[in-house]
Order: sequence, then C-alpha cells, then structure tokens
Amino acid sequence: MARIHTVLGPCAPTDLGTTLMHEHLMIGWPGWDSDTAAPAFDRKDTVKLCVDRMEELKALGLRTLLDPCPIDLGRDVELMAEVAQAARVNLICTTGLYKEDSGATQYFRFRAQFGADVVNEMAETFIRELSDGIGGTGIKAGVIKVATGAHQVTPYEEQVMRAAARAHKATGAPITTHTDEGTMGREQLDVFASEGVDLKQVIVGHSCGSADLKYHVDMLDRGAYLGFDRFGLEILQPDRLRQAALIGLLGIGFQKQIVLSHDTVWCWRGRALPIPAEAFPTWKPTHVFENIVPALREAGVAQSKIDAMLIDNPRRYFAGE
Ligand SMILES: [Zn+2]
Repeated sequence: MARIHTVLGPCAPTDLGTTLMHEHLMIGWPGWDSDTAAPAFDRKDTVKLCVDRMEELKALGLRTLLDPCPIDLGRDVELMAEVAQAARVNLICTTGLYKEDSGATQYFRFRAQFGADVVNEMAETFIRELSDGIGGTGIKAGVIKVATGAHQVTPYEEQVMRAAARAHKATGAPITTHTDEGTMGREQLDVFASEGVDLKQVIVGHSCGSADLKYHVDMLDRGAYLGFDRFGLEILQPDRLRQAALIGLLGIGFQKQIVLSHDTVWCWRGRALPIPAEAFPTWKPTHVFENIVPALREAGVAQSKIDAMLIDNPRRYFAGE
C-alpha cells in the first residue's frame, strides 16, 4: 500500500515522521451505551481534551498516531477526524474486531451457529472499511486490528484473524494485534502464515507483556514486528521488565522490528474510570519521549536505533516494504 489512509485522506509514507503506533483517543467497552444514567457525551470537551494531548505530543516531535480501536470498542472515526483536523496530525484508524471475552462477539457467534460463513462476512466488512470507507463517513481505515485473550485462541478469535488475513491480501493493509499477558503472539502468527500473510506486515501488539526473550526472538525470526507498546502500564507489567527485554533485543540487532507506544486511553465512553489518574502516574502518551528514550540512551542505545523504532519502522510497515 503505497498511499496510507489517514482519517483526513491519503498521505505518503515519507510524511509520517515520528509515530506512536498504539494509543486510543476514546474507548467504550461493549455495554457502555446501556449505562443510560451516565453523563451525556460532550463532544466539544472530548475533542478539546484530545487536541490538547496532541499538542503536547507535537511539541515532543510527534507527527503521526495510530489509534487501533476495533469496530466494537466504541470506535468514533468522525471524532478522530475532528481531532486530526484541529491538531494537524496524521491520525490513522483501524477496522477489525476485539477479543472474545471483551468484544461485541454475540452477533457473529450467533450467525455462526446457523452455519453462516462468518469469516467471509467479517472479511467483507473489513475490506469495505479499508477500500470504500466506514459507514457513510468516507473515512477509510488504514490498518486491520485483531485480538486474542490470555493463554488460548478461541474459535471466534481465529475466525477474526482469518478474516483479517483475507482483508490484508485483498487490500494490502497491514495488521496489528492485541495480546494478553504476553501470550499467543506465536499462535497469531501461525494463523496468519497459514493464510499466506507476509509476517513483515504484522505487529504483534503488547509483546512487552512478556519478558521471555525466547518468545520475542521466535516471532522476530519469523519477520514480524513486536509492539513494545504498553510503556507506563505498570499494573500489568513493570516498565523495568519491558525495558530490560527491549534493551536486550536492541543489543542483538532487532531495532528494525520493534515499535514503541503506551496503549493509553484518553477518554472513556459512558462514565469516567473510577480510578484516579494518579494511580497510573506514567501511563501517559508522552512517557516514551520523556522517560523511556532517555533511559535507553542512558543504557547506551544508539540514537539511530531509537529513530528506527519511532520513525523508520512505522514508515516501512505502512508502506508495505
Ligand atoms: Zn489498545
């Protein structure tokens, strides 16, 4: 895919610059719209909050952000377009579906019971969103998102991955994934490989949830990108372990296959999270620039390797090189 679809239209790979590969402007867990007593959604305030965050990131050099919100987690691509327009950043959205235990899985699971060919139905949806646009918005997705839960790949999740592989082959759009607890990345690659996907077009997201270097090297040797994309989420895995694994992998030359991010969520649909922001002091989208990059330099990581992860790899991934 030589041209990249942002929410504001096509852009060239060379326009991407410094890129965060996994941050969320807004998430709504399935069921958020059942909480009808929640305060009404204030679009203007939400846009302002997101634009302010983008301005902070731009001051640190950011030019592009991938928001890999799947269709079923409260995705709002028009909100993304408003933010991108106001903040003058490249913002890329995704098509795709979330994991079985937390996504809106009932519809396709119900249809599958009656023998519907849900893999093709999902693929048709993904291809439409990548090629023609999302609903009536004219906004095209630029990436396909899939997800698995911890320690197993369910039949539903495998169907979503097969549909993603077919949409990738039909459109050339790359794939990015969610994993839990640093597990099932290898199994994700097995499914994609069985569908003939070039694994250079896949980011195994949240790979920093594991500090098992064998797990990482197995996937890197197959050509995939690894997302070290949950920096600051200390509650799931301490940054010390994410950094130790990252520095080790950079030390043996894998800088061309790693991308960095935080998986932050800037706004929640429904009610705000009942946890104070102080509970996650480093889980903010500036953390990599302010703290992780300096820590890598301190550990002796060359600037060229840092640039590879933040600039060159996103460009090559989106360009399909
Ligand atoms: Zn995420």
